Amino acid sequence: MWLHVLALIALLGLVFLGLEILHAFYRGVIEAQHEDVLRDTEASKSEGDRKRLVWLLYQLLRSLVNVPIMAGVKVSLILHESLHAIVHAAMGGRPRIVLCPNGGYAPLEPWVGGIGWLPIALTRPALGGVACLAPVLGGSLLYLSLLLWLTPADFSHLTAASPPIVDACAPAKLGDLPGALLRGLRTLLDPARRAGVLGTVALLVAVILTAPSLTPSSTDFVLARRHLVGHSIAAVLAALAFEAIPRAAPWLLILVGAAGFVLYFLSRKIGRDWPDYPGIVGMTLLLLGILAKTGALGSLPARGIASGIAVVIEVLLFTGSILLAFLLLIVLLNLVGLQFDAIGLMLRKAPGELKDVFTRFHTCTKCNLHFHGKCDGCGRTPEELRAVGEGG
Ligand SMILES: [Zn+2]
Ligand SMILES: [Zn+2]
Repeated sequence: MWLHVLALIALLGLVFLGLEILHAFYRGVIEAQHEDVLRDTEASKSEGDRKRLVWLLYQLLRSLVNVPIMAGVKVSLILHESLHAIVHAAMGGRPRIVLCPNGGYAPLEPWVGGIGWLPIALTRPALGGVACLAPVLGGSLLYLSLLLWLTPADFSHLTAASPPIVDACAPAKLGDLPGALLRGLRTLLDPARRAGVLGTVALLVAVILTAPSLTPSSTDFVLARRHLVGHSIAAVLAALAFEAIPRAAPWLLILVGAAGFVLYFLSRKIGRDWPDYPGIVGMTLLLLGILAKTGALGSLPARGIASGIAVVIEVLLFTGSILLAFLLLIVLLNLVGLQFDAIGLMLRKAPGELKDVFTRFHTCTKCNLHFHGKCDGCGRTPEELRAVGEGG
């Protein structure tokens, strides 16, 4: 089963990549809309009064689509940072969000200096990665909750779809994987189809208000990297232990996990240079051990871990398919309105947006700016900023 777990983790990585590609196209749409409006405004200045009236009516119609999409940029940014901040609060930190002229950020800060770092140090190995990925996880939960509220669906749809996905992750059965994933997705999308007009509108509004900042940024991924690797190592190790020594594994995980956590905790001064891996791997092993002990992972805990990852994959696929449907709708609207330029613009903008996901940006907390290289406000490098505690 450890191989299944490893394959599922790789699949999860691919799903994240797919989501970022869709998201890049969505950002491309927004950029294209923005440029289109600017260009039309310029063009209108050189036209006569009668034509201008027609143009105004046309723009009024178009703003029915544009205004919500542009409003979504702001709303989704606030939502993105708030979701980071909510997890920071759960970690014992003081939740705070800062909006900049070119984005925003949510600093992880203690309520008070010194001892205030203690709860953050204790919770960080388990929740640090969740905090980084909170926007996409929270956004997906929002879509799912809407679906559950609007339709007779329940969470059994999710758990029912994961066993075939887990089984298809055996090396010999990989050919079954696309079918299993599609069937899993369908069990979630079927209720969505039954959601009717009200449900469709609710989902549309939710997408418009969340999609522009739905996925983690490049900096979120940089900060989450060690956590994701640590959780993955722990999941594979735990699956190995559960199968090799089924009876002793839970206690072994709890002991080894606790030892790793203590090592992490004692080895450095609190609030400085975190030795991450012993803490992240340890905390994950500890939690998996406790879950197995309480029976939450089922009678076959290794399979329980694999099923858990499969559920996350399904939820993210569901989110991706909603985003894809929304993108297709925009392309369709543009085709109907003969706005071929807008489609071309979207296709041209998307690769640049995707590149941004792989090049991390830095933040100057003094000038409140995101930047690549040097801060556009004060001209300092990330290293200089880190040295004086003003970003990085
Ligand atoms: Zn973020
Ligand atoms: Zn600066």
